[in-house]
Amino acid sequence: MIPQDLQQFLQDFYRSDQKILFLTGAGISAESGIPTFRGDDGYWTIGSQNYTPMQIATQWMFHQYPRKVWRWVLHYFNNARHAQPNPGHEVISRLEPLFGSERFKLVTQNVDGLHLAAGNTHDNTYTIHGTLAQVRCSHSCDQIVPFPTDLGHYTKGDIMPEEEWEKLACPECDELMRPHVLFFDEYYNEPYNKYESALRAAFEADLLVVVGTTGATSLPWLIFETVMNNDKPIIAINLEPTTFTQTVEVNELGWVLFGKSGEILPEIEKVMINYEL
Ligand SMILES: [Zn+2]
Repeated sequence: MIPQDLQQFLQDFYRSDQKILFLTGAGISAESGIPTFRGDDGYWTIGSQNYTPMQIATQWMFHQYPRKVWRWVLHYFNNARHAQPNPGHEVISRLEPLFGSERFKLVTQNVDGLHLAAGNTHDNTYTIHGTLAQVRCSHSCDQIVPFPTDLGHYTKGDIMPEEEWEKLACPECDELMRPHVLFFDEYYNEPYNKYESALRAAFEADLLVVVGTTGATSLPWLIFETVMNNDKPIIAINLEPTTFTQTVEVNELGWVLFGKSGEILPEIEKVMINYEL
């Protein structure tokens, strides 16, 4: 599955002092049962209108219809609260201590927390689109608290009782908390999204491994472009062609591997650290 020239590269790379950067997206979590935004399930009806995730998960919509946005978030990510890391996550978590903090960074677009659940550290994991593990005050008091674990499961059409909404109230000012995620109409910043840290990791990377992401959002593309402009190799892993895989192929930036990340990443790990195959 891993081409001969890539096998040699991976073994040499691991034994060098060069830095690896992983960039992961929805594809890696799909293998843990978390839907990507592409399915019909992502659509939501408010009044007589159908909205896409990119229209619902916005600051604008949250301001207009905070509870409706919360219901969409809860419906959409219910399964994320109980999903388990898959072999792809586990490989990335095992590689972090093997490379060490100086040589390993992980940037993820996923808000499900599965990389951290698998064992990657907060210090080396930049959750650029935020996390479902926390909620923050939607007003100005800046409270960030853990997601209420005692909140029930609600799906489309369920009524959420008032006492449940109270669990989503700010402990400081009693206003409704919001998901601690980056809405589609918001800008990245360092405190919430590790924007500068992620870009620094891209500047310093000697190898970028892109896993299960299509290149649709701005910061992931900027990271990719930074590594490309530095003439560093890129490995793109995805089920099907994406902007990233096509750019790697057209510009001969490295290697494209099509298939499940839960199968390809264990192969990469074996080759890299020379396990018995
Ligand atoms: Zn507050």
